[in-house]
Amino acid sequence: MRESDFFNESDVRKPTWLSCPFCGQSFGYEVRWRQRIKKKSLPGWASSEDRRRFNKARSYLVRIDDKVGCQNGRCRRRFEIASFQTVVFLSETESASDGNRKPPAPAPRRRNRNRNRR
Ligand SMILES: [Zn+2]
Repeated sequence: MRESDFFNESDVRKPTWLSCPFCGQSFGYEVRWRQRIKKKSLPGWASSEDRRRFNKARSYLVRIDDKVGCQNGRCRRRFEIASFQTVVFLSETESASDGNRKPPAPAPRRRNRNRNRR
């Protein structure tokens, strides 16, 4: 199975407050994200390797838009969404209403290197 078979994919728009680096004006932009929500379960024919990978998979969002066009009528320049992360993992316990908590950054694979040291 491919990794994309583990997820239900859909495109979503998230209102995001961005300021233009050219004119300095801030506006709310509808930034597009591809949402990959992990499926509840795998089909019966999935192999044990598929199941192992599936267990490790997590729901996430990937940003589609790299740039937005400034909404200031006298500027209208396109600028990059530089300050904003491109991948957001969704924990299953996360509540959508909790807007103050920042989603965790995509973490590199953890090694637990310090666990056995004193
Ligand atoms: Zn601008």
